[in-house]
Amino acid sequence: MAAAFVDTARITIVAGHGGHGAVAFHREKYVANGGPDGGDGGRGGSVVFVPDQSMSTLMDFRYKRKYTAQPGMDGSGARRSGKDGKDLLIRVPRGTVVRDAETGEVLQDMTNVDRYVAARGGRGGWGNQHFATPTRQAPRFAKAGLPGESREVILELKLLADVGLVGFPNVGKSTLLSVVSKAHPKIANYHFTTLMPNLGVVYVEEGVSFVMADIPGIIEGASEGAGLGHDFLRHIDRCRLLVHLVDVSGSEGRDPVADFDAINAELKEYSPELSQRPMLVCGNKSDLCFDDENQKRLREHVEALGFEYFDLSAATHGGVRELVKKIAEKLSTLPPVKVFEATYVPKMPTVETGTGEVSIEREGNEWYVEAPWLEHLVESTNFADFESRNWLDKQLRQAGLFDKLESMGIQDGDTVAMYGLEFEYER
Ligand code: GDP
Ligand code: MG
Repeated sequence: MAAAFVDTARITIVAGHGGHGAVAFHREKYVANGGPDGGDGGRGGSVVFVPDQSMSTLMDFRYKRKYTAQPGMDGSGARRSGKDGKDLLIRVPRGTVVRDAETGEVLQDMTNVDRYVAARGGRGGWGNQHFATPTRQAPRFAKAGLPGESREVILELKLLADVGLVGFPNVGKSTLLSVVSKAHPKIANYHFTTLMPNLGVVYVEEGVSFVMADIPGIIEGASEGAGLGHDFLRHIDRCRLLVHLVDVSGSEGRDPVADFDAINAELKEYSPELSQRPMLVCGNKSDLCFDDENQKRLREHVEALGFEYFDLSAATHGGVRELVKKIAEKLSTLPPVKVFEATYVPKMPTVETGTGEVSIEREGNEWYVEAPWLEHLVESTNFADFESRNWLDKQLRQAGLFDKLESMGIQDGDTVAMYGLEFEYER
């Protein structure tokens, strides 16, 4: 008996590109040459995962595989900043584990967080308003916006059954499960339905799907005195809704009302809480009924006990659509599965910082500086903030960048470029 099964999806997420900073100069009547006033580009939107209690499968990700957030707008003159791109929110079932597809590293377990920024939008470029210095009043450079982060991620979710099918052997539980989990043509290729015949994903419509489990052996074992296994209890404990199938055909000489009571008694005995669980009752194999005597008796019996009753013929699909709709409707009103089990222990990715080697290339009066640690440093610097700029300057100094540039012959007024940042060198 499978207590849980892992659902997976692989998607690409791309955060928005940062808007470019503007090169612009203030123009006013009677002022010959205005100062630089190019505004900053807006930040690109980030891609953010958000847990959603009402989702229970990763089905939607089968159909859409690439998710891109809005770019930031470019800055413009008169110190106008470009608008930030909107974050893209991706809803996933709570309990989903997000992994980096390339490294396999767990990025975030969505069980206990409200949001997870999986790809940060690119920073907007700095407009030339920031590059004015006392000596150089009209800087012609502005920063280009940086690309947003992008990555491929794998989503993983331990599927827990929303709906548990209960009933005597041979009443049609497996048949019903196979019918509903293949009822939608799109689901035909969904491998879980074939890999795990007793656990099926039922796709209702976009954003609405649920997991149904056939629980074999519920009564087989119990009637032989073996009792219900611990695994079974754990499993059914998590189901938000039970669907109780009863054979109403009388084809095996059984009495449907007695069968129904027997199963209910078993459930109650093994877990008093289970008897409180919402339950729909289906009289199955109605296609074999000569008259509707059994159906009527069972319906009256269960309705008197406060349950909803459906006539069903799993084999000929009679009443199946209505049942699926009813289940989805019912689930939307029920509290979510309580316990979430992360498939992996989350570990936050570490970012390498610190200083180290730099590579410098010269082209005329322009100096291109590269180092992996530097990229992160520049990326995380807020250029509109003095403290932040100071910090960057200190880091560069400590890393010996300026000494190195000096020794290579840099002159005042030369341009130093690194990861989208350009500045004029001044001793
Ligand atoms: P389970 O033991 O509860 O999983 O029952 P199965 O799904 O294996 O069904 C037992 C038998 O009943 C199979 O031969 C099915 O084809 C048959 N069966 C299931 N549902 C129906 C139904 O609605 N009508 C008829 N005529 N036969 C059915
Ligand atoms: Mg079966």
